[in-house]
Amino acid sequence: MRIGIDLGGSKIEGVVMGEDSSIHHRLRIPTPANDYPATVAAIRDLVCALERIVGREGLSIGIGTPGSISPASGLMKGCNSTCLNGRPLKQDLESALGRPIRMANDADCLALSELRDGTGQGARSVFGVIVGTGVGGGIAINGQLLAGPNAIAGEWGHNPLPWPQPRLREVPGPRCWCGRQGCIETWLSGPALAREYLAYADEDCSVEQIVQRLAQGEAAAQAVFARYEDRLARALASVINLLDPVVIVLGGGLSNVSRLYTRVPELWSAYVFSERVDTKLLPAKHGDSSGVRGAAFLHEVHA
Ligand SMILES: [Zn+2]
Repeated sequence: MRIGIDLGGSKIEGVVMGEDSSIHHRLRIPTPANDYPATVAAIRDLVCALERIVGREGLSIGIGTPGSISPASGLMKGCNSTCLNGRPLKQDLESALGRPIRMANDADCLALSELRDGTGQGARSVFGVIVGTGVGGGIAINGQLLAGPNAIAGEWGHNPLPWPQPRLREVPGPRCWCGRQGCIETWLSGPALAREYLAYADEDCSVEQIVQRLAQGEAAAQAVFARYEDRLARALASVINLLDPVVIVLGGGLSNVSRLYTRVPELWSAYVFSERVDTKLLPAKHGDSSGVRGAAFLHEVHA
């Protein structure tokens, strides 16, 4: 048995996974809002609770988080949950838990989970994308996560939206929490979708409401989603041109919108540098559990 933890912006999920990759137990708690010490304590308590349930101690632990650990300083960086940035999260968790842990970016965990036994199983390369509160990417190749000297492989969410269209006022684009303007995340995150809907329909709706209206065929939701899909197609076309992954897997709240999987591949061929595009765009097989499953698999890949 091993433990996987998915540290998200609104919830922390923990599972105990068996050797056959089945989930024995699962617990979900809210993420303490903008409170670093409480977040560390919450993860420690979650691990203790899971170990109590299964009657085991000292299980190996993998944790998926936003952002990444700076290889130079060991401090967190690039987290949209900004209270984590500049903090020695891995070190603090290891002292709180009394054992070494594995940590990786949440989109890396998604890519690893889907490559291991999900929608990208057997594929040589998987680009995992999280479209939720933030937008992130991770790359799994030949059974391993791609990791570079800056620990940002796949983080295209803070590249500028490619092929920007002045008529849609995409230049210079909204200000991003990272300090730049017009990042892909400022167009493709859940809050970005809600902002676009507000601008179009003059109504403040949650992402869930917009998705529901889309399903009911509401014209405003359809128009806003049509723009969203073209932007997602452009953003993913730039990934295909650079990496040419076999499979692109979507996770995160917006990945549940099924029409993305037909519309986006129809749109991206206009931007991909190939007369034919055979890249697959698929939802995460394990849905919302992909992140936490990938975290549990972290001890199987290179540190
Ligand atoms: Zn940014």
